[in-house]
Amino acid sequence: MPSPSDPGLSPRRALENEQFLESINERLKASLLEVRDEAGEDPDAHFRFFCECSDLSCRERMHVRPSRLTAIHEDPDQFILLPGHEVPAVERVVDQEEDYLIVRKIV
Ligand SMILES: [Zn+2]
Repeated sequence: MPSPSDPGLSPRRALENEQFLESINERLKASLLEVRDEAGEDPDAHFRFFCECSDLSCRERMHVRPSRLTAIHEDPDQFILLPGHEVPAVERVVDQEEDYLIVRKIV
């Protein structure tokens, strides 16, 4: 029986949340690269990007190289998130790098 306190997130809703965070990270990365370019800084140094898990209230961050974020996001089914934030019903962990997981949608 569904109830208002049901923590179950529909797969579609979970995916929408992750795509939302992915778009925020991509915008963040674009501004970051501009700033670093102007400042003459290493464009690929680690930056604290947002966790792209399905929990909309999650605002945790993890250290990721911008080039890794780009490579992971080249596959539209792949997202990055913190260990323990994955939802086995909607995604599968494909790899762990540094302090984050790479997951792939299975729905
Ligand atoms: Zn999270």
